Amino acid sequence: MEKTLVLIKPNAIQRGLVGDIVTRFERKGLRLVGMKMMFMTDAIVNEHYAHLVERPFFPYLKASMQAAPIIACCLEGAEAVDTVRLMVGVTNSRKALPGTIRGDFSMSGEQNVVHASDSVENALVEINRFFAPGELFDYNSAVTCFEYGGEESQKYK
Ligand code: UDP
Ligand code: MG
Repeated sequence: MEKTLVLIKPNAIQRGLVGDIVTRFERKGLRLVGMKMMFMTDAIVNEHYAHLVERPFFPYLKASMQAAPIIACCLEGAEAVDTVRLMVGVTNSRKALPGTIRGDFSMSGEQNVVHASDSVENALVEINRFFAPGELFDYNSAVTCFEYGGEESQKYK
């Protein structure tokens, strides 16, 4: 099944939102296959946000990602990348729809609670950035047949 990366950002950790955020993904039926608390080094911030290093807000973004640890989560499910992006909402939390994580938990375009991979291709790169192969887990679930229909189980192996 498809995997995606979520980073629970330092602002969410400071605000005590970790449980609420993880619960949303669990309730949806996305499977947690990796989870790790860490500080983001200069190198990892620069690499993760390489597409933004030239932007004027980059120093603020960098400081915000190093203000406390982050929690990296690898989530698995059918079309996990798009499903998680929908659940997270648009970048500017003030514009994010109610019911999304950013829409419900943030007022900010920068301190927007979580990162989520934006494509299957980027998800692969980002998962490898944060997890060594031995830190991801493949395990059986007794409820998979109640989470997906028969046709879906064939399609999204
Ligand atoms: N960001 C910001 N100001 C902006 C755009 C982005 O502070 O005008 C920050 C914000 O924290 C965002 C991160 O940079 O989550 C990465 O930006 P991206 O465009 O990749 O948005 P995302 O994929 O997180 O929605
Ligand atoms: Mg992005």
